Amino acid sequence: MKNNCVFCAITDGEIPSFRIYEDEFVTAFLDINPFEKGHVLVVPRHHCQGIADVPEDILHGTVSAVRRIAVKIVEATGAKGFNILQNNGEVAGQSVMHLHFHIVPRYSACPLGFVNGKASKEELAELAEKLTEVLSK
Ligand code: AMP
Repeated sequence: MKNNCVFCAITDGEIPSFRIYEDEFVTAFLDINPFEKGHVLVVPRHHCQGIADVPEDILHGTVSAVRRIAVKIVEATGAKGFNILQNNGEVAGQSVMHLHFHIVPRYSACPLGFVNGKASKEELAELAEKLTEVLSK
């Protein structure tokens, strides 16, 4: 298996998947363990680990496909909205180390797992100053 990577193997047709779409940039297939009906993964054909190491042109082609596919999934499923999720690194919940975007159609409102309120006004001000400086370089 190329790069010992399950998503490369799916892209290359070496292992089965419920493939729904492919083009020059991406392969898209149903998530084997879906959060919701119609949960799809969109992966670039080019192997890279995450958002930080994907070449710019491949990122553009991938994100463009994510949008196109998400709109079609909503049409086809009757979902009322959708989440785009993209995990980077084990600590962020990434289990397959090949860049992928989750498209998760949503049918009814239920909260996601994040909890708000983890910074004071002072912490926000300090962080904003630091990040503004880093981003200006
Ligand atoms: P993440 O936690 O962001 O790395 O998501 C990886 C996703 O890949 C999970 O939602 C898995 O259910 C899904 N997955 C893993 N192996 C396969 C496979 N062979 N076919 C389809 N989906 C898979």
